[in-house]
Amino acid sequence: MDLLSTVGLATKRRSDYIEQAKTLARKYKEQSRLEERMKAESLGLVKGFRDKLMRWEEYERTMIDKTLVSALAACIIGIKEDKTDRKLEKCWPIIVGDMLPPLTKFLAETKEYIDSGVLRLGDQTVDFADYDLAPALALSDEELLDTNPEEQGLIEAEARRAQGQSWPALVTRVINYLARPTFSFFNLGEYMVSRDQGYKEMRRIAKDDKRTCKDCRRYGAEGWRPLGELPMPGKGCRCYANCRCYIEYR
Ligand SMILES: [Zn+2]
Ligand SMILES: [Zn+2]
Repeated sequence: MDLLSTVGLATKRRSDYIEQAKTLARKYKEQSRLEERMKAESLGLVKGFRDKLMRWEEYERTMIDKTLVSALAACIIGIKEDKTDRKLEKCWPIIVGDMLPPLTKFLAETKEYIDSGVLRLGDQTVDFADYDLAPALALSDEELLDTNPEEQGLIEAEARRAQGQSWPALVTRVINYLARPTFSFFNLGEYMVSRDQGYKEMRRIAKDDKRTCKDCRRYGAEGWRPLGELPMPGKGCRCYANCRCYIEYR
């Protein structure tokens, strides 16, 4: 599906997505629990597709639905029932603009891997249960922090999971759409509330360890800035969805 059709589909289904997101947010209540849930769903989705429980069209559609619902749910958790609907109106175009262009590209790439046989449907040579998905699934921030991105790349290459060219690698990448962005969108929700409450300044606190990227350190060093002048965690920094900077308001 091209970007225009994807955006068209999303726009048509917006109110459905919002209803589903509210249910999800009520059920999981905290961003970290939502993220865990979406990691598990990522694994289930890729496994279901590999094992031919669903066709490509359904997989593609489910990826789009879940990416948007998960992002909305994260915003709702950040908003904490403070004029939720009005704030979601403002979150929606940001979610669509941030997520759908890369997602459309990612899906096209996955389709290419399927069509060219890099990923084989029904290929059960890798048992997901046995495969070490630790960096993606058991991912605790502590664990991640022990390796810098370069070392992480080497580890992934060794495990032949780099670039999404194996089924477990695909899970890792799906998690980057379904689960990890919840952190940034949770922060977006909180930002909307802080703005409404009249806070004037914000600062971004970077974790000071070797995985913290240059951009995040720079934002951190800037200290207090006028509200709206610093990007949300995961935006404007090269660590993207892995960013775990947090934001304070005053
Ligand atoms: Zn960063
Ligand atoms: Zn960061």
